[in-house]
Amino acid sequence: MYFPRLLFKQVMVKSSLNPSTQQEHMSLPRRPQNKSKLGCRECKAKRVKCDEAYPMCKRCQRQGLVCSSAPRLTRWQVETPWLSLQPKTHVHPRLLQYWLEKVSQASVIDPEDNPFSFPILEHVAQSPALLHAIQSVSASHEQFFPAKSPILALEERGKAIACLRREINQVQRAPYTHFLTIILLALTHVADSDPKEYGKQHLFGARALINSMLRDISMSTSNDPVVRLCLGIYLYWDMCSSFLVDPCEPQCLNLLNMSLAVHRMGDWHHPMYGTCSRLLLIIANVGRYCRQIHDMPQNRNPTQEAMLEAQLRAWMTSPPNPDLGHLYEAFRNHGLVFLYRSRAHAQRGCPTDPDVTEAQETLILQYAEETVHHLLLIPASSYSLNFQSLPLLAAGSELTESNHFLRDEVRDRLRAIYSLNRLPANLMALQLLEELWDARDSGNPSFWLSHTLQKDWRLLLT
Ligand SMILES: [Zn+2]
Ligand SMILES: [Zn+2]
Repeated sequence: MYFPRLLFKQVMVKSSLNPSTQQEHMSLPRRPQNKSKLGCRECKAKRVKCDEAYPMCKRCQRQGLVCSSAPRLTRWQVETPWLSLQPKTHVHPRLLQYWLEKVSQASVIDPEDNPFSFPILEHVAQSPALLHAIQSVSASHEQFFPAKSPILALEERGKAIACLRREINQVQRAPYTHFLTIILLALTHVADSDPKEYGKQHLFGARALINSMLRDISMSTSNDPVVRLCLGIYLYWDMCSSFLVDPCEPQCLNLLNMSLAVHRMGDWHHPMYGTCSRLLLIIANVGRYCRQIHDMPQNRNPTQEAMLEAQLRAWMTSPPNPDLGHLYEAFRNHGLVFLYRSRAHAQRGCPTDPDVTEAQETLILQYAEETVHHLLLIPASSYSLNFQSLPLLAAGSELTESNHFLRDEVRDRLRAIYSLNRLPANLMALQLLEELWDARDSGNPSFWLSHTLQKDWRLLLT
């Protein structure tokens, strides 16, 4: 899949807008051509020169700081005829441009193959809901997703929800735009609400859409790129949240259809993560199982455990590049650590089970270290940086006091991820890790999942 990147200049709005509003839309914020006053907050505070690298300047990267550089945007140069098709669409040029050039780039592994950037304009032209959802995410991202959204972000989110309701009723066949809108709404909702929220309504809404897409498609059309794109996004989301859903809750999952579709589509390349779709589904299932035996240790099922373990070990693909090879191995090892740790935890709560042996502990630590090693072999400048926070928390929590070097690297890595996607959950994961490491060092190790649930936190680490 290749999408040309195009630049475009001021927005043409032939509309009923009054002249003054129109003027606002026409004028883009002017910025000096050569001299820049942008530099990151940290460098400005120290009054040192900043190289303005986005998402992290060199100085912050060297010092393991969170970098808040303000990304420089290009000047738009080519007209966008599509906007004039939508007279009532309220385009906010700066927010839209910020999305196209910066925010959307954090969501894929290759900026040249990014359906969420310029190619999305085609869908935006059809769907005001999607436009407002995008503008809401941009407005929040600019402000580092503050606990109380900026007014602009809230306004955009409100408009997106109102438009989505209308569009779902009116437009029968636009599952892709509906799906993307729901995801973006979930992102802003989760990012700026309290840590108890993982956006269950949005996840379940997305599930319902995926279920109906998979029900509709026949064998021959499962190669539909739109279905693949949505299913892939969903699989990633499911991996990050399956253990957050209360197992007593009706899950509205159609796992059979889902596994059939994933199986039929094989190792297709997804712009977010490449060729690891099947692995994502396995890890999502591991997460569901782990949460279930965490809450009800008596429900342990050794056959299911053995099957999940075998699936994790047997999964194979040829990674598109070495960075992704490391990411996939980190995912696989994270799945194993999650499974082994949950089993050990459930055994503790169940008097009939034999005690957790030292050998088990050694094995868990070994896989946890492997997970972290693989992630650290990926340079912080890699586009796959954004997909690392969950294994960093889960495997990182197993690191012992003697691993202080690795612990430091995990800290730096989570801060780097935060500089990139600005989602507060990364800093909360860091806080969880500090608590878990303290507990471990004082002889009271605790399972990260138990610890988060005890705090009543439901962090969505995407
Ligand atoms: Zn700087
Ligand atoms: Zn910086």
